[in-house]
Amino acid sequence: MNAASSSNTAPEGATPRGAPATGAPQPAGAGAPACQDVRRLADRPAYAAPPQPVIQPLPRHSPAVGGLVPFSTVDWPGQLAAVVFIAGCPWRCHYCHNTELQTRAARYDWHEVRAFLETRKGLLDAVVFSGGEPLSEPRLPSMIRDVRRMGYRVGLHTAGIYPLRLADVLRHLDWVGMDIKADAKGYDDITGRRDSQRPALACLTQLLSAGPDFECRITWHPDWLDEARLLALARELARRGVQRFAVQAARSAPGTPVGRALSAQAQAELRHSFQEFAYR
Ligand code: SF4
Repeated sequence: MNAASSSNTAPEGATPRGAPATGAPQPAGAGAPACQDVRRLADRPAYAAPPQPVIQPLPRHSPAVGGLVPFSTVDWPGQLAAVVFIAGCPWRCHYCHNTELQTRAARYDWHEVRAFLETRKGLLDAVVFSGGEPLSEPRLPSMIRDVRRMGYRVGLHTAGIYPLRLADVLRHLDWVGMDIKADAKGYDDITGRRDSQRPALACLTQLLSAGPDFECRITWHPDWLDEARLLALARELARRGVQRFAVQAARSAPGTPVGRALSAQAQAELRHSFQEFAYR
């Protein structure tokens, strides 16, 4: 998954969206839940702690859940989401910040994660599957079905490695964050894999033709792709019909300052080329 993709964790038990702050005076009657609602809230363990990594190894066929962020505002712009990280990725991007998620391993029990998500119904909008590469998990379609049944919207972060698997789940997705690694010349240098642009372009074609809302984003450093090449790549994406594009400045570690920033001129051109553009 894209190295710059990040999530924030909120302390468990934080005031949920729309709920009054503890101790804050409430206008009489306004926002006061009906008795039935109070009973419903009391009935469910709304503040259950998120599951912890398992101690005993899980059965071999278990979904390779490698991490869980219970609350994020950044992994799907505009949505409050839990993020489920799948451990497993066949690429070896030299800038990968999630190297511990490159190897397939089930560190969390999906049944526990599912039970936890049940307790967050009504508090979160969505569940985002990230990674690693979430499409590396053969059970992803049933995991997506599970969270859809709970009423969540579903987002996916993908590097576009598995076009056939993407085709299988596309109609069940509400949003996709699709990594574009580089232009044709630079793709394999980033991913460490031969012919890696081909599947990514096949995934992009699917998103453009029949897909849900999506954003293309690139983790960018001028040493990997100079501004002129970045702009040429962006123009090509815009020409193909991409409407949302983000440049994520490469950082040595998440949260550290950007080394060399994208010029104001380049940002202005990108803003002009897309319906939505973000520089993060
Ligand atoms: S595609 Fe794989 S190797 Fe590349 S950044 Fe994402 S998880 Fe890391």
